[in-house]
Parts: sequence; C-alpha cells; structure tokens
Amino acid sequence: MGEKKKKIVKTIKVDVDKCNGCRACEAACSAFHATPRYGSINPARSRIRVIHEPLKDIYIPVYAGEYTPAECMGRDKYTIDGKEYDECAFCRASCPSRDLFKEPDSGLPLKCDMCESDPDLEEPLCVQWCLADALTYEEREEEVEEEVQQEEIEIGLEALIDKYGMDKIMDTVARISVSKKA
Ligand code: SF4
Ligand code: SF4
Repeated sequence: MGEKKKKIVKTIKVDVDKCNGCRACEAACSAFHATPRYGSINPARSRIRVIHEPLKDIYIPVYAGEYTPAECMGRDKYTIDGKEYDECAFCRASCPSRDLFKEPDSGLPLKCDMCESDPDLEEPLCVQWCLADALTYEEREEEVEEEVQQEEIEIGLEALIDKYGMDKIMDTVARISVSKKA
C-alpha cells in the first residue's frame, strides 16, 4: 500500500433538466483557455461541449476527460426516457474516432482542468456563466493513495508521438533546439 494523502476533489454537478443549450459554458471555457486569456472565443477549443439533440429534445453538457490513443473495442448506447442515443454521444474521451475534444489547429487533446490558474478562480468559469444553474461546483476532501500525476506536457507529447512517430518528433525537437541556440 502506498502513502495516504489528503486531496481536494473538485466536482461539477450537471443538472441536465436545467440545461437550455445556450452554450455560454463553451464560450466561457474557450475564452479562459485562449492565448492571451480571454483574447478569443471558439467553442471548438472548449473543454465542455453541449451535446445537442433537438429532435430528442435534449442538451447534455459533457466535460473533456482523459486522452486515449486507441479507439475502444466496445461502444455504449444509452436509452433515456425511451429515446436511444448514439454510440460515443456522451463519452468524455479525446480519442481517434472523432474530432471532439481536440485543439482544432494542432489536433492535441483537450481536457477539463477545472480552470486551474493562479490565483484560483472562486468557481470554474463555465459554472459562473451558466445562468440556468445547470452546473454546480463542489469541493470535498478525500484521503487517497499517493499517485503519480501525468503532466499535461507528457500527455500532449504522447499524442504528438502517436500522430507523427517518435523519429519525426525527435528530429523536430533537434531542429528547433539548433535554431533556438543560433
Ligand atoms: S471547469 Fe474550466 S476548464 Fe473545465 S470545462 Fe469548465 S471552464 Fe472549461
Ligand atoms: S451554460 Fe448552462 S444552460 Fe447554457 S449550455 Fe452550458 S450547461 Fe447548458
């Protein structure tokens, strides 16, 4: 057994019944993560996407979760109130099967980071901008096993290596480092 440590678990509760599909959460998230911060709005860069099925009368906010280099072998279908939803519809993963949760220019995976910043926001921005109160922020303390966090830069590099191959990435890094030193 590893060491125990205290961890703040951050949760956003989603009340699907209250979501009206306004997409303010997408705009707020993409602005917060723009460079420079708040410099642009592009929902394709948002780490929350609202799955919109007008014929089935539903809007479901889905948060970007983990990156996975492989498509999953099985797919899930959901039936809610007697209506069946597509495979992958509510999945949080950034994966090769679809364009969702990928930075549109680079193709790098996007993941919700709960608006980590310094100083911390009082509440994540998508929660602040959800005027319908469909999103509620909660924090609690839990005792967990010490875990090795995979750094964001490592996840990004893994995705690039999957896409272009190790040799190409190493060549590019070598070329950039030469030009930076010159
Ligand atoms: S918590 Fe922050 S990073 Fe996550 S989806 Fe909301 S605005 Fe985006
Ligand atoms: S801001 Fe709130 S109501 Fe609007 S789409 Fe996002 S979750 Fe739904």
